[in-house]
Amino acid sequence: MGETRHTRVLIIGSGPAGYTAGVYASRAMLAPILVQGIQPGGQLTITTEVENWPGDTEVQGPDLMVRMEAHARAMGTEIISDHISALDLSQRPFTATGDGGTTYTADAVILATGAQAKWLGLPSEERFKGFGVSACATCDGFFYRGKEVVVIGGGNTAVEEALFLTNFASKVTVIHRRDSFRAERILQDRLFKNPKIEVIWNHTVEEILGDDAPLGVTGVRIRDTLTAAERTVPCAGFFVAIGHAPASELVKDQLELHAGGYVKVTPGSTATSIPGVFAAGDLTDHVYRQAVTSAGMGCMAALDAERWLATAG
Ligand code: FAD
Ligand code: NAP
Repeated sequence: MGETRHTRVLIIGSGPAGYTAGVYASRAMLAPILVQGIQPGGQLTITTEVENWPGDTEVQGPDLMVRMEAHARAMGTEIISDHISALDLSQRPFTATGDGGTTYTADAVILATGAQAKWLGLPSEERFKGFGVSACATCDGFFYRGKEVVVIGGGNTAVEEALFLTNFASKVTVIHRRDSFRAERILQDRLFKNPKIEVIWNHTVEEILGDDAPLGVTGVRIRDTLTAAERTVPCAGFFVAIGHAPASELVKDQLELHAGGYVKVTPGSTATSIPGVFAAGDLTDHVYRQAVTSAGMGCMAALDAERWLATAG
């Protein structure tokens, strides 16, 4: 049987929200434990340049997260490489079960489990995942040197992924279901100026086409949303960039959630429907979903936890 660790504040997640909560909870002398999960550093570790983190005109996402981790550690956060597979919020102290065999008990919990990439849900997407289908250009772009790739989506992620892929691919085709992007204007301007990128508006992807031996993608069948006409776009790589869904699996039957799975918090605070449980970052935010807003909510969660522990905990 594994060991049991008790902490005043358990922080679950190591993105900007989790690490910032760690900095603040440590400075409040709460000696927090932070469990990193399977993506230490969170979503920013799968991107390159970040240009909107205040104080850094440009910083590499993975570098920023290494700095945040070091900051939280230096302030006194105990950072543990583990993944929480179960969380019991029905009684205090709250109990979390780690994959590594450790049981964590906590007087207060800060949930900062962020969000994960969404997939289209096509059977052909499943078939070629890891064999031409990817949701991370930074991770997999290198495999497509000199080849044609397709990106689907119209938000910041899709535009950034398309721009990044021009470093490797001979051609990048962006397919979007509407006739305008929702990405920031500065990113759109860069995309439209890039001669390697073609945009196909008003189309959906119906099927990813490919071979079995060796398993790999050869193209995508797309459909015009206005005329219903179908055609094939050849490509060796297919990058899905259609947004992210909150990682609320651990708490979906225990806390009140918004439609879409985002954890509900009292407006202006990080308090969830269970006293002593706080939520921060992309897990609770379907509007802003930025590193800086997540970090801000991480700060709020630690301050909320500190105040709650001082009175109730
Ligand atoms: P996340 O960063 O999603 O981190 C979640 C953490 O929770 C991870 O560490 C994960 O391991 C952990 N976790 C999940 N489940 C468990 C579990 N069961 N047990 C333990 N741990 C768990 N924002 C910007 O402001 N600027 C940008 O330039 C920018 N670029 C981006 C580029 C890409 C490709 C993507 C995908 C996003 C980008 N964003 C950007 C958005 C930004 O990354 C997010 O808003 C931010 O990372 C959210 O932080 P978070 O702390 O809420 O969660
Ligand atoms: P997003 O903003 O939610 O955009 C998702 C895009 O995918 C939308 O264009 C959407 O189309 C499209 N889409 C959704 N479901 C689809 C489906 N089933 N089929 C086809 N297309 C589909 O997601 P995101 O781009 O991942 O960004 C998430 C958050 O992270 C945002 O808040 C963003 O600002 C942030 N982020 C910031 C940066 C940055 O600051 N540089 C970089 C990356 C991400 P519609 O437009 O028609 O809805």
